[in-house]
Amino acid sequence: MAIRNIRLEGDPILRKISKEVKEVTPKIHQLIDDMLETMYEANGVGLAAVQVGVLKRVVVVDVGDGPLVMINPRIVRTAGTQTDDEGCLSVPNKAGQVTRPNEVVVRYMDEDGQQYEAEGTELLARAIIHECDHLEGKLYVDLVEGELHDVVYDDEEE
Ligand code: ZN
Repeated sequence: MAIRNIRLEGDPILRKISKEVKEVTPKIHQLIDDMLETMYEANGVGLAAVQVGVLKRVVVVDVGDGPLVMINPRIVRTAGTQTDDEGCLSVPNKAGQVTRPNEVVVRYMDEDGQQYEAEGTELLARAIIHECDHLEGKLYVDLVEGELHDVVYDDEEE
């Protein structure tokens, strides 16, 4: 596993549309392992492949319940709304208020090529939708209500 370099807002790759994964190759497995390591190292709750410079439809999410790895995720249903602070590893140390659906159902393929459907609410719904937006070249800063504000994290060592 290796930590990959996270692309930051302003990098044109973040505005590109990611491509469908046709086959889960060893290279994809490697990508997923690296994405998880990179996300945890940066204390993030989600990461899309495009954020490490790979235009493939792969996202990882972990809101504290263990990793969710989704290949070719597709949101099939949303319900309700929630408004809360949101951040992104590509826009470091910033956050802003974003309104999102409060519930989501997503279809995706796992690392073994099996099709699954998952449901998320609250933070998990927010993270899934945020990561799926990355695959379309969208960033949460497009949706922020008001201004971004600075976020100071307690330092790493726990
Ligand atoms: Zn993001």
